[in-house]
Amino acid sequence: MLPQLPLLDTFGRLHNNLRISVTDRCNIRCFYCMPAEDVQFMEKSELLSFEEIERIVRVAVPLGIDKLRLTGGEPLVRRELPRLVEKLAAIPGIKDVGLTTNGILLAEHAQDLYDAGLRRINVSLDALTPEKFKKFTRRDGFERVIEGIQAAQRAGFQPVKINAVSVRGLTEEEIVPFGHFARETGVDVRFIEYMPLDADNLWERDKVLFAQEIIDILSASIMPLVQVPHGHPSTPKTSPDPDDNAGPAENMVFQDGVGRIGFIASVSQPFCLSCNRIRLTADGKLRNCLFSLDETDLRGLVRGQGTNADIAAAIRASVLAKSEGHEINTARFIQPSRPMHSIGG
Ligand code: SAM
Ligand code: SF4
Repeated sequence: MLPQLPLLDTFGRLHNNLRISVTDRCNIRCFYCMPAEDVQFMEKSELLSFEEIERIVRVAVPLGIDKLRLTGGEPLVRRELPRLVEKLAAIPGIKDVGLTTNGILLAEHAQDLYDAGLRRINVSLDALTPEKFKKFTRRDGFERVIEGIQAAQRAGFQPVKINAVSVRGLTEEEIVPFGHFARETGVDVRFIEYMPLDADNLWERDKVLFAQEIIDILSASIMPLVQVPHGHPSTPKTSPDPDDNAGPAENMVFQDGVGRIGFIASVSQPFCLSCNRIRLTADGKLRNCLFSLDETDLRGLVRGQGTNADIAAAIRASVLAKSEGHEINTARFIQPSRPMHSIGG
């Protein structure tokens, strides 16, 4: 297919980044994402097959999508995930396939994923003790996640990144241990401010531990953190992706150059105006924002009479309808009915 006009929205934002959820199921129950009990999962028949995902990506590439991330739910509970990675990494025009995982099953799969062409991996880990881990996830499994991180490093992923959701009242005592962990292991640690996407609707702004507070604690307790400037020579050493700093993370490093810490300050410093992402849910709905209240049904097109041109037009229309930004910090905010595990974080 010939290249077409890029995916530009009405605010001038160019979209090259597609996040693909492969399941809404998960083997743990993080309180900021899933309900504790009685989760209504999608039927298997509702999920896009690997072939359907591949078709949508092949349509999206000529529109300018060149970066993919697989997510969920927990993507590693979907069987044969390396087969999907291989299919997607082989599509001409795709520069990069990443994965976000809770790490529980990573030790078993890290090498297969690497061999299939995956190069970027983010492991979600909110705490550095088994007890605190369970407070976030309502399940055991801390040791397995640590083993998963080590297996990913051995398999060749460089860097492995940790995502830690920052929640007031829980995260404070993890901050300094995470700082030391980043310095000792070479893993990049990124704190993500807790967002209103929990299934139980318990989010409040007061429960978010803000990025600046974490920066202050790390700087006072270990040593000052300094910004990694865009294009800084230290960036390629740890990040093979030249676009890495174009994402929502503010990347910092301790003053002596050892230990990289990132911040995704979605609540205190929204980055909507530089957002380049769209999202495909496991049941084939395209969302132009995490907080969007509308979706575009691509599965209906893929399984019905939709041509590739129809799918491309639907993707373009979704991007054109994208709002300027989320309204978390206003009284107008309405939480989407899908919680995070069903959207794909
Ligand atoms: N299960 C995988 C995992 O946990 O990495 C992938 C899906 S998860 C929904 C993707 C990311 O979203 C994780 O890093 C998770 O911590 C983050 N996340 C989930 N709910 C969140 C929330 N309410 N606020 C901020 N981040 C959240
Ligand atoms: Fe599962 Fe990831 Fe949601 Fe935690 S954040 S419940 S690991 S999908």
